[in-house]
Amino acid sequence: MPKTPYPFAGRTLPNYIDGAFVGSETSFPVVDPVTGQAIGNVALADKAAVDAAVSAAKRALKGPWARMTLAARTTMLVAIADAIEARFDEFVAAEIADTGKSLLQATTIDIPRGAANFRSFAALAQARAMTSFQSDTPDGRGAINYSIARPLGVVAVVSPWNLPLLLLTWKVAPALACGNTIVAKPSEETPSTATLLAEVMDQVGLPAGVFNLVHGFGGGSTGEWLVGHPDIDAITFTGESATGSTIMRGAADGVKPLSFELGGKNAAIVFADADFDAAIAGTMRSVFSNCGQVCLCSERVYVERPIYDRFVAELAARANALKVGDPFDGADMGPLISAQHRDKVLGYYRLAVEEGATIVAGGGVPALDGDIANGFFVEPTILTGLPETARCVREEIFGPICHIAPFDDEDAVVEMANDSRYGLAAAIWTRDVGRAHRVAARMETGVVWVNDWFLRDLRTPFGGVKLSGIGREGGEHSLAFYSEPMNICIKL
Ligand code: NAD
Repeated sequence: MPKTPYPFAGRTLPNYIDGAFVGSETSFPVVDPVTGQAIGNVALADKAAVDAAVSAAKRALKGPWARMTLAARTTMLVAIADAIEARFDEFVAAEIADTGKSLLQATTIDIPRGAANFRSFAALAQARAMTSFQSDTPDGRGAINYSIARPLGVVAVVSPWNLPLLLLTWKVAPALACGNTIVAKPSEETPSTATLLAEVMDQVGLPAGVFNLVHGFGGGSTGEWLVGHPDIDAITFTGESATGSTIMRGAADGVKPLSFELGGKNAAIVFADADFDAAIAGTMRSVFSNCGQVCLCSERVYVERPIYDRFVAELAARANALKVGDPFDGADMGPLISAQHRDKVLGYYRLAVEEGATIVAGGGVPALDGDIANGFFVEPTILTGLPETARCVREEIFGPICHIAPFDDEDAVVEMANDSRYGLAAAIWTRDVGRAHRVAARMETGVVWVNDWFLRDLRTPFGGVKLSGIGREGGEHSLAFYSEPMNICIKL
């Protein structure tokens, strides 16, 4: 694909409040992580702008949106999906400008999934069934109980930078399908596709105030003002576990419903009977996709001893062969999101050495020159030889790095995989069907893949246990979170 220009070149990205694009006196830069250069400016939503967005969303709950039939609402969701697809190249260019992610990732995952979320939740909302019970009564006449789903109200959507459009729409689509209104705050690192989404909402004629977008930072800024706003009825958040705790504390007084998708330190388990080539290819994806910046990425890889040496050597060779660089120049792996995140990841590369790791691939910064010499690149990195207690084996690094350890038996590897404060996802590689089911069921995670990774069906429950989150998204689980069931009992 030829390089499409950044859609907001020379413009300040606006907020979208009550159906209007609005600027601000204060702005902050959009930085292209491939070059390290600022490529634009974003209007920062101050407290008054957040108030205006929440008020608009509250008013919109009583407007034409509330009277719209489910059929009309879901038709609008499909129109949003169509409009994203019609502007596909712009969305891809905006996502890559903000994140530096590979063209393959942006064109096959981020943007198609962004559109698919709207289509999928339109269909799911149409097919949704609620429960009913025929009940006995002492007089013998009986009663019927049935439930209806009502919107929660104004939903605050706070999303991260790693899969910006995908994760934002994963919340916005079901929230709209259930009839809510929204104030969304994308990550300060990735404001562009969210702003294109606001343009799409405007273009398809979503009533004013139903979807509002406010830009800014987290603590002490737009994010904190939004989640702490008394007129917000629910908060849905994807991001770091520590941010989740802060938001939860702030939401406690208002007793707001919370949906949290948080961090991970995911294990991949490769048994000696696995299809070796498939396990290598799958583990390459699960470690290095999106420069390791997917909450589901495997940062701990456990390999059964008979194939351990061969597996380490092959994974290291493939990691060393990855082309790191400009996404529009055929790179397999782009940069990390920011200078700050690169410094954090490089801190873990240094810590690994201090903790006694053997670095079998990478471990530093690639030598790149020209326009991308100052980009936030790091080498794909593989470690071995660390104890399970090492910080590099326990803490979420969120970069292109994994530690590989050998194991000798099933019980031992299950124990190692589960010995984590996180519990988001696991990948298991084996040809033994019995073992696949047995080990999968023993994982203390919300999601397990057997012989694959990140294979998604949007109807299935998605989320984590322990520090990795609260609640599930996906299919009926999203519809359940974004609506309030109300029981109606009729005495016959
Ligand atoms: P982050 O927690 O730093 O920020 C996420 C969002 O929260 C941003 O929009 C940020 O501005 C906002 N925010 C930060 N502090 C806030 C506060 N006090 N009040 C309100 N909003 C606040 O996370 P990140 O660095 O953007 O994303 C990476 C993290 O997200 C990783 O830990 C990753 O594992 C996690 N993640 C989880 C999933 C999942 O589905 N479980 C998916 C993607 C990413």
